[in-house]
Amino acid sequence: MHIKLYNTLTREKEDFKPIEDNRVKIYSCGPTVYSYPHIGNYRAYLFMDSLRRVLKYNGYDLLHAMNITDVGHLVSDADEGEDKMMKAARIEKKDPYEIAEFYMNIFLEGLEKLNISKPEIICRATEHIKIMEDYVKKIIENGYAYETDKTIYFDTSKLDKYGVLSKIKIDEQKAGARVEFDQQKKNNVDFAIWIKADENHIMKWDSFWGKCYPGWHLECSAMSQHYLGDVFDIHTGGVDHIPIHHENEIAQSKGATGKIPAHYWMHCEFLQINGGKMSKSLGNLYTLDDLAQKGYEPLVLKMFNYGSHYRTQINFTWEALNSAKIALKRLKEGYAKHLVGKENIDRTVIDEFEEKFHKEINDDLNLTNAMSIVWEVIRYPKKSKDFADLLRKFDEVLALDIDKPMKQMEVIPEEVKKLVADRTKARAEKKWDLSDEIRNEIIKLGYNVKDTKDGMVVEKI
Ligand code: AMP
Ligand code: ZN
Repeated sequence: MHIKLYNTLTREKEDFKPIEDNRVKIYSCGPTVYSYPHIGNYRAYLFMDSLRRVLKYNGYDLLHAMNITDVGHLVSDADEGEDKMMKAARIEKKDPYEIAEFYMNIFLEGLEKLNISKPEIICRATEHIKIMEDYVKKIIENGYAYETDKTIYFDTSKLDKYGVLSKIKIDEQKAGARVEFDQQKKNNVDFAIWIKADENHIMKWDSFWGKCYPGWHLECSAMSQHYLGDVFDIHTGGVDHIPIHHENEIAQSKGATGKIPAHYWMHCEFLQINGGKMSKSLGNLYTLDDLAQKGYEPLVLKMFNYGSHYRTQINFTWEALNSAKIALKRLKEGYAKHLVGKENIDRTVIDEFEEKFHKEINDDLNLTNAMSIVWEVIRYPKKSKDFADLLRKFDEVLALDIDKPMKQMEVIPEEVKKLVADRTKARAEKKWDLSDEIRNEIIKLGYNVKDTKDGMVVEKI
């Protein structure tokens, strides 16, 4: 069965044709690990999970790389301000490497909690500096870069066209531009690829241009080429990546190899909160832990996400999350009824449901429509184990643990939660005595904390 995918590059739903017959190569822009990932961030990875699972359902093998940005992402995507890692390190009074390790692990734990199938390759920017340096040299050698006092910039005027993905006109961008951060920059949309580190910049490396660190966009071009080759099948990210980050990745690849690096560019829309943006200052930025504290297990968020197609904005409200919780519970109950069902179902009925489900997921990952087929199966009046088998097959794509009971989420008081976070930090810093002291305080408040292979678990005593 054909798969159709919406390609931001062409603004069309296209028939998917991989470069190799049986294997699909994907690159996904990963998180910048300078603070707790929020439920909006996870929308981008739930979308990535659906893509992986749908391709696998169609019999493809995957070679998928995702980066972890632990250096070089400045406060503005357009290369202005401080490195986000350095800023977090300054605020938390920690080493930026510690910050990266801590938040990367939280992010990866979140992927597991959400049953997100992990990419085959997870690559950290700081572990690929030499590869990036070689990539910069290639861009320079090909004549697509220039130096200012502090930065090597990509010269966008050397390209036949800049802005192929977002379809922006450079002149329009110029007209709306703010005062330049670096007066030596030649064109407004030129961007940093290699940056000279100040003395107090901790993350820096010896290079052909002295002690430097890479620009954010560079890591994705260099690592995707390293792991997947000059041209691969699919590149994913959030819609915020379209106008700058992905545009710049394309520019860099054209500069280094002369090619656009991926055939299909897929982007997921944003999760909004109460119709607006999530932000720390508005106090409406939620993490998986915040959800758990209110009694919502992570898979409820996954169920909630299936309520909208990945290319439409989705509005988060606690009411909607609660409806998703009820729906997930009913789904599992419906599965359980089929599992013990004794009625005979004609094979053609099963096959028809399977085909309808398959058709929907292959239509640009329409999990929302696919869910309505799932509900038809759940509500089918005759109960049969064959339907339970079918639902488990659907769950290879949905990954909602349909055959497992709902998790009882303990509502943990703020005070205990804070102590648990302090203890996690103490353990990351190998301060074992402090960790034990904090544990005793947690016990005094009536909770126990256990270290399991899946991470820290907090329970009422
Ligand atoms: P960052 O850590 O800021 O680089 O973001 C990691 C991923 O989360 C990127 O793919 C972003 O596009 C995505 N993202 C950030 N905020 C949201 C949101 N509110 N809804 C959906 N995706 C988001
Ligand atoms: Zn990227």
